[in-house]
Amino acid sequence: MKNYIFLSTVWLISALSLSGQNAVPAIVIHGGAGTIERGMMTDSAEAEIRAALQAALDVGYTTMENGGSALEAVAAAIGVLEDAPQFNAGRGAVMTSEGRHELDASVMDGSNLNAGAVAGVTTVKNPLRAAIAVMEKSPHVLLSGAGAETFAREQGLEQVENDYFTVPRIRKRYDAMNKDQGQLTPAEKEVSKFGTVGAVAVDSNGNIAAGTSTGGMMNKRFGRIGDSPLIGAGTYADNATCGVSCTGHGEYFIRIGVAKDVADQMEYGGKTLEQATRYTIHSKLTDMKGGGGLIALDADGNISMEFNTSGMYRGFKNENESKVEIYKEE
Ligand code: ASP
Repeated sequence: MKNYIFLSTVWLISALSLSGQNAVPAIVIHGGAGTIERGMMTDSAEAEIRAALQAALDVGYTTMENGGSALEAVAAAIGVLEDAPQFNAGRGAVMTSEGRHELDASVMDGSNLNAGAVAGVTTVKNPLRAAIAVMEKSPHVLLSGAGAETFAREQGLEQVENDYFTVPRIRKRYDAMNKDQGQLTPAEKEVSKFGTVGAVAVDSNGNIAAGTSTGGMMNKRFGRIGDSPLIGAGTYADNATCGVSCTGHGEYFIRIGVAKDVADQMEYGGKTLEQATRYTIHSKLTDMKGGGGLIALDADGNISMEFNTSGMYRGFKNENESKVEIYKEE
């Protein structure tokens, strides 16, 4: 009898640690990488961006403190950033060459490698919610265009007119690029950022989830789709390695398969999260002359935020620390 109790206790302890029951929750987010330098932004614009990033971190972290999963934390944090007009996702998304908005998003659950994504949606208010619905309520991984809209409608997700996504800052930029060149101030001309949003979280069960949402690239044409809705390129999550969300010039991220590249280096090369992310961004991406960055974390709560541009809107929160950063040197 004694032996039995001893064995079951041992079993219980190892089962708990195997399933990561004692993991410490953490969340990391980004709001896009690009040419973001001090002095280019007004103090009030910078304060608004920092406040929105902090709000997203707080909502995501609190979700997990209250017992929510990493997936729920990612959904909550990205929802805040999609609704904030400062970022290129949801409201505030960039415009296509036709002056409209086509949005992409994806999500991955590292506990079972399930994933969902939408590409080129035009009326779904929160595209990340649609990506989660694809993952949970359809047999597919990636839905695009009109089909994705119909699916989102059937799932009861909130719909908006396409111009809901338009904000004056983006309209002005679009007009300057397409109609009246020269209407931007020198500072506005300088600002070139990709602005996608993303979140990666690990919850107390050791489950990792990652999500990314974007309007894509300004002036994109012909139904162009970037890396953000592509699992393995813009987003990846696997409890055994890490979760990753990317931002940058999508064409490069697709060709490298950036998010999966990080996970593969850990799985097959035995690298740490930091070694893997640094190699992918500062060797592979930089050698190809692609610009951008990523956020990532592993089941132990190690966090990485790497980029090869002058700035990346980013932040993380865990039990010890909460930080929001914009520039290379903070
Ligand atoms: N990666 C996105 C795309 O190429 C853009 C971005 O990160 O802002 O669509």
